Amino acid sequence: MNAPIPYNHETELNEVLERCNQVRMAPVPDADALPDGFTGTLGHFPVYFPEEIAHAAGLLPINVLGGGNRLELKHADAHMGSFVCSICRSTAELGLNGSLQGLTGFITHPICDASKHLAGIWARNFPEQLAQILYLPQNVNTPGAVRYIASEYQRLRGELEKRTGRSIDDEALRASIRIYNQNRRLLRELYALRRDEPWKLSCTESYILTRARTRMPCEEHNALLGRALDAIRQRSLRAQDKPRVVFVGGFCEQPPLEMLETIDDNCYVVDDDLLIGLRWITEDVPDTGDPIWALAESFVERSAASPVQHDERKTKEAYLMEMIRASKADAAILTAAKFCEPGLDEQVAWSKHLDQEHIAYLVLEFEEKMTSFEQMGMQLETFAESQLFALA
Ligand code: SF4
Repeated sequence: MNAPIPYNHETELNEVLERCNQVRMAPVPDADALPDGFTGTLGHFPVYFPEEIAHAAGLLPINVLGGGNRLELKHADAHMGSFVCSICRSTAELGLNGSLQGLTGFITHPICDASKHLAGIWARNFPEQLAQILYLPQNVNTPGAVRYIASEYQRLRGELEKRTGRSIDDEALRASIRIYNQNRRLLRELYALRRDEPWKLSCTESYILTRARTRMPCEEHNALLGRALDAIRQRSLRAQDKPRVVFVGGFCEQPPLEMLETIDDNCYVVDDDLLIGLRWITEDVPDTGDPIWALAESFVERSAASPVQHDERKTKEAYLMEMIRASKADAAILTAAKFCEPGLDEQVAWSKHLDQEHIAYLVLEFEEKMTSFEQMGMQLETFAESQLFALA
């Protein structure tokens, strides 16, 4: 008889990763499969959404991130041009093929022309769902920005109250803020760990751990992240000869998992902007006083950066340079989703700036439907070798 495998930190981490991976692929839960404490689900499109408001209303926030590379598009093409990015097309497909019919509502943001049209498609085709656009400001450098965002959040709060028949009081909001603050702290720890000891956690593993929050209660995600962090710290993996890179371009449409694995094979990704909306607020949101104001103020004053948010305090070039500096990266991988105008614009500005700064970079494009990564693997191998040669 085989001896039982001892339970150790690797087993623990594998269990957590397996749970997170299952959730990543799981369908939206029906009413009878909702986690305790939730009465419905609220879908939202990237980049950022104040999940605390949905959470306090008893709605499980579901970050809808398209259909990945296994979804066949049968209906969406009749509603959208073929030149629209994959995430918009596959999200529409998920709605039209019934995969998202359990949602209580779906909120989009006017981050680009493509996403603006998604709201119209939703309202026309799914009248039973609350279909709304949350108008976050594209320019936060105006004196009225916080007041304006707070009024948008109040409007959303009112819509959710009407839809659920349940009032969202300030204390419930403050309780949700505390739960999400803990999540933000844990995700910051995860990223700090990758910056300090990238050999202990690949970008793919980190991504799977982070992405689980798009489909599970934040409370459960906190517990899983806590277990994962303990296990990762105990890992005794050795550093390999790989260049340290930052990965940018994953702020909205998500690259295929295989692409991240291909990058991991060749480089240590010491920082990235994958799922940046889940990590948008970079410090604790104050949990005393007016919670709506605290969330709105945090959006402006304690926040990350992305190509869909204009903030003159964080220019395209400056925030990339800060990522490179803070993570002690040797180089950058500049990606963009196919047909993503904001992402492609940023890519041009980034590459020009890195040329000026004599920082090496590799430009890659991705789309959900990608299935072949050999060519990309060869590009990455050559890039990584040239970096190691330059650093030697
Ligand atoms: S991937 Fe780019 S173009 Fe598509 S919805 Fe997101 S920001 Fe817009």
